Amino acid sequence: MRPDFLPYNLPDLGIEEEDAVIRALRSHWISRGPETALFEQDLSSYLGGARVLALSSCTAGMHLALLALGIGPGDEVITTPYTFAASVNVIIHAGATPVLVDVEEDTGNIDMARVEQAVTGRTRAVLPVHYAGHPADIAALNRLRDRYHLQVVEDAAHAMASTYQGQKVGTSGNIASFSFYATKNLTTGEGGALVVPDAELAEKIRVLSLHGMSHNAWNRYGEHGSWAYTVEAAGFKYNMTDLQAALGRVQLAKLSRMQARRRAIAERFHEAFRDLPVTLPAERKEVGHAWHLYPLRLSLPSLTITRDDFIEALKARNIGASVHFIPIHLHPYYQERYHWQRGQFPRAEQYFEQEVSLPLYPSMSEQDVEDVITAVRQVLLAHVK
Ligand SMILES: *Cc1c(COP(=O)(O)O)cnc(C)c1O
Repeated sequence: MRPDFLPYNLPDLGIEEEDAVIRALRSHWISRGPETALFEQDLSSYLGGARVLALSSCTAGMHLALLALGIGPGDEVITTPYTFAASVNVIIHAGATPVLVDVEEDTGNIDMARVEQAVTGRTRAVLPVHYAGHPADIAALNRLRDRYHLQVVEDAAHAMASTYQGQKVGTSGNIASFSFYATKNLTTGEGGALVVPDAELAEKIRVLSLHGMSHNAWNRYGEHGSWAYTVEAAGFKYNMTDLQAALGRVQLAKLSRMQARRRAIAERFHEAFRDLPVTLPAERKEVGHAWHLYPLRLSLPSLTITRDDFIEALKARNIGASVHFIPIHLHPYYQERYHWQRGQFPRAEQYFEQEVSLPLYPSMSEQDVEDVITAVRQVLLAHVK
């Protein structure tokens, strides 16, 4: 057994990130400033010229997107039960009603065929999640969008570097919100980026992201700034800082190397687990998976161990693991508020009951990868019926 605990996730941070943050600190621009503008440009280049706003989080981006689209009370927004709370909370914060649609069996992504059945006269938007880094069915999504005149806000928290039909997620013509939270493929500690194809909408979101002040306000203490500002809306405090942006620029520069390592680990896992009573994560032919997560699913009927006990057994072997996600409709708050019940979204529930997210991140050594494999194989093979 390995001597030390292998955490389920660690950021890949080195001397370059340290240097960049120190440089930003010493520049005295520590809130939103020139580094943030450069990070937006870098992200834009990476996303083929897309219009990008760097913000405080993915959640902030989705919230502002819904508000700027005018989505509010009386409106319905369709999303997935198989996601993090943020995807649903932003709909609630906008004043709209979340409508859940069950997921696909193989990918865990929202099932577009069922989305169509859930569209009503009140439906204004769809908020899909690219679960684990496997893009949702964007072609079907865009067909629905056009047929029913819906807005789309993609929760792309897992999908930095994902591709769909050869195009990067975030370039499909929809609004997309990326997360740079500590555990994500590209991190700034906390942070996010919102892709907004429409220029006018982007300007509105920019204003809303910084107290509702007219758009040059962040530079008002600079040489060419002015002390004067105009408040145009009751905005929010959702801006990124230059310390985060400096970190993000280094992370973006090394993203392709980090992604190659993620893919290599995922492929090693596929090979090592192929003969076990498990379902390997799907990667459909039209997508490039970002491998944010490695969601292994246990074939519970063939095993004498539960998912929870499996995770405990890994822990006893010094291997961390996690579960993504506890479906939205199983949380008491949402159950009380929306009368959702267990059994209502059976595919999401089944995925959840079987799912284990194994450690998968670029800073894992070959030995770390082999240690995960050994632990998974030992525990499962000791519990085959
Ligand atoms: C991490 C995550 C978010 C939230 O991202 P923040 O940047 O922390 O706001 C939203 N949706 C999903 C699916 C996530 O995993």
